[in-house]
Amino acid sequence: MQDASFRFYADLNDFLPPERQQAAFVYSFNNDQSIKHLIEAAGVPHTEVERILVNGTPVDFSYRVQPGDRVAVYPHFSTLDVDAGQNGRLRPPPPSPARFILDIHLGQLARYLRLLGFDTLYPDSDLDDADLAQIAHDEERILLSRDRGLLMRSLVVHGYCLRTKDSEEQLTAVLHRFSLFDQIQDTPRCLRCNGILQPIVKEAIIDRLEPKTKRYYHEFQICQDCEQIYWQGSHYPKLRQFVAAVKQNRG
Ligand SMILES: [Zn+2]
Repeated sequence: MQDASFRFYADLNDFLPPERQQAAFVYSFNNDQSIKHLIEAAGVPHTEVERILVNGTPVDFSYRVQPGDRVAVYPHFSTLDVDAGQNGRLRPPPPSPARFILDIHLGQLARYLRLLGFDTLYPDSDLDDADLAQIAHDEERILLSRDRGLLMRSLVVHGYCLRTKDSEEQLTAVLHRFSLFDQIQDTPRCLRCNGILQPIVKEAIIDRLEPKTKRYYHEFQICQDCEQIYWQGSHYPKLRQFVAAVKQNRG
């Protein structure tokens, strides 16, 4: 066995046992391990890591750790502009506009992201981890999950581990992590199926409207895929207010 010194910064400490948090610790390892392997063996999914310095020099995930190395591991900092052209770039930039695939039990977060206009897959629960990772990879989607093991799969390029079960806190974290405030759309994706909404004249769908909706609303949209009808304010007006508040406080 050989030793190196590791230190994880900021919210990467969420993944560590208390005795390893907020401090350098000695990490023993067998010969010839990649730094990615050692980081994940410590409990931190590679998707959470944005920058690695070894003895002060940036490295990528393939670096083989040497005895006596001093390793510093950093998460994404929205305020820190890491030049993509520098050494040590760990992955290509995330898809823009951002698009997502969500793990099971994140249905409410999926609806929130769709309401804000993000292309968000929320597959049937019979997809397993391998399928989710494959789709995330093939369609260049950001994988959101509470399951570290899923995010450690090597096929996953872009991902984020949600620390909380509270869907509003999850949304806040995702908006910050991927700097999404400027990508929020006025037109939602279909909350039911992620389809694209198109304006439709009232006369064409009037038979499907409740009497009050018929009386008070005049502008409608319809999902091109599942034909669900939407109108202004029909879904989650409070969430819009919530996002506006998050946006104001984002600094
Ligand atoms: Zn739909």
